[in-house]
Amino acid sequence: MRYEAERQLLVETIGDMARWGLIETTGGGLSVRADNGDIIVTATGSAFARWKVSPRDMTVISATGELRERTGGVAPVGALIHMAAYEMFPDCRAIVHAHNAYVLAFASLGMGVPSCVNQLDTLGEVPCLVADDTAVKGGVLSGESDRPPVELPDGIAQRPEIAAVDTYQLIPQLKEKLGPRAGELKRHGLACVLYRHGAFVFARGLTEAVENLARVEMSARTAVFQAILRGGLAGVEPNLLFPEAAASTKQFADA
Ligand SMILES: [Zn+2]
Repeated sequence: MRYEAERQLLVETIGDMARWGLIETTGGGLSVRADNGDIIVTATGSAFARWKVSPRDMTVISATGELRERTGGVAPVGALIHMAAYEMFPDCRAIVHAHNAYVLAFASLGMGVPSCVNQLDTLGEVPCLVADDTAVKGGVLSGESDRPPVELPDGIAQRPEIAAVDTYQLIPQLKEKLGPRAGELKRHGLACVLYRHGAFVFARGLTEAVENLARVEMSARTAVFQAILRGGLAGVEPNLLFPEAAASTKQFADA
């Protein structure tokens, strides 16, 4: 089995994240990039196995998603975002995606995470990428999408409807919002959140990536506590992409 050290590091990191409440059973994904560009990534389904993973449960793909070594499942579709980020950020060697609770308070409002603690100041702005998953997936599954289907390499789970969300919506926004800041990775990590979904952090190594994720989550938590001290329920925000449902939720909040 190749990349034993990287596989072991991923397993230990997942255990640490679970211990510190930084990873959820609803999804997520971790990867590291080897010197030759290969990507060692957690396999699809790892979250649903409640992250009980071993080194064999990691998948090795090339920079373009071809299977290099398969000892368990294939990579999740979200690996497309990992691949795009590694291409965009030459100094990035590790990526963590997770569905953190406090991050989601902001991501679900379509907001980036505000810096409310000194530790997040270092990372700079944490923007929110907004994708209309339901519409894009529906378009692909019904055959009514006006965009060509995404051809998925063999190392990635064959889910073209999810791939369309990543390829046509999230990755272009990632390029636009964080691409110009690639040079910052020489000094510190970068992070963003996905609307109604979770967080992504990009760093020079896996330890730094997890530490950065903890900073983002800590700042989000502090911001929520600030809102409790100063704000109220009026700020609750339903899906911005479903205006009718949003109106009925607003009625409920006003009652
Ligand atoms: Zn996710």
